[in-house]
Amino acid sequence: MRNLYDVLGVPRDADQARIRKEFKVLARKFHPDLNKDDAQAAERFKEVSAAYEVLGDDQRRADYDEFGEASLRTGFDRARARQYRSMGGGFPGFGGGGGGGVGLDELFGSLFAQQGRSRPRGPGRGSDIEAELHVSIPDLVQGTAQVVDVRRPAACGSCGGRGGTSRKTCGGCRGSGRMSLGGGMALPCNQCGGDGVVFEQECIACGTTGRTMKSERLKIRVPPGTNDGQTIRLRGKGGVGQRGGPAGDLRLTLRLRAHPRLRRKGDQLEMDVPITIAEAVAGGRIEVPTPDGGSVKLKVPPGSGGGRRLRLRGKGLPTGKDTRGDLMLVLRPMAPEGDDPELLRLAQALDAFYEEDPRAGMEL
Ligand SMILES: [Zn+2]
Ligand SMILES: [Zn+2]
Repeated sequence: MRNLYDVLGVPRDADQARIRKEFKVLARKFHPDLNKDDAQAAERFKEVSAAYEVLGDDQRRADYDEFGEASLRTGFDRARARQYRSMGGGFPGFGGGGGGGVGLDELFGSLFAQQGRSRPRGPGRGSDIEAELHVSIPDLVQGTAQVVDVRRPAACGSCGGRGGTSRKTCGGCRGSGRMSLGGGMALPCNQCGGDGVVFEQECIACGTTGRTMKSERLKIRVPPGTNDGQTIRLRGKGGVGQRGGPAGDLRLTLRLRAHPRLRRKGDQLEMDVPITIAEAVAGGRIEVPTPDGGSVKLKVPPGSGGGRRLRLRGKGLPTGKDTRGDLMLVLRPMAPEGDDPELLRLAQALDAFYEEDPRAGMEL
């Protein structure tokens, strides 16, 4: 890269009026409108404009005078550059005193650490996508397959994931990918990021990233015995990779959906079981469905009128690979409803059998 003062043909101490005047002369001379199909003139016009952008601005010119080409990099930080120099670092260019012997990688590693300009060069793995999958308790115990629509980054359809149309040699570095700083030192080109090539035409649809968001319908298999909060990983169903890299993964965290009759209490599962008044008083044999898709027959003990809890071992939620917690049955005696005179008579007759006021001793 040529010295910007030489590009405009002005001395180092030229004032703004002089710089502006020289720029106007050169800009007119190389203007694309007056030099149709002249690639060399177009290149010169770009060079002259870029030089004036810096030298025509007092602050940018001061930075250039102080730090040379390093100040032209995107993300240049004057304060950090001064700090670096005060620690003994040198800047190739003018006024900086030449290379100070500190590794240039170190210099740019620290000066430009925060800019997003330096792109990863090799293939990059796509991003992982995290989402939640809501399943019912029976789904969790029995296993299920669910169809979900997932929005994820996919290769851009407009450019086929390439980011633009065919590439041409970068004008900024003439294809070398490097910006020389003199003295055998160089930086990655700030126009092509070091690739040496730029797109002939950049893809607008994806902004040269080569990726756009797409919706995909996926069938998710939840194996039986998977636990609430557990993650299911679908390899390669995350974001598309860069430059031919592998796609990321889709990570689905299982969440329990509320159930009208089943509740989770830690590892234990609770299920409400309605019983009749007669079953509650006299006891009986009943059959209830279980979350694993089966059913169990069990005995309601006599005297369950106040409700009762029965434990079914190993019929609850998975607690490990082959282990399951308990299912607690909560018996709920249900009185019949209606205004049939016979029902009212029987109900009132039942009241005579309470040994004491059911609300006796009720204190809050
Ligand atoms: Zn370049
Ligand atoms: Zn595109």
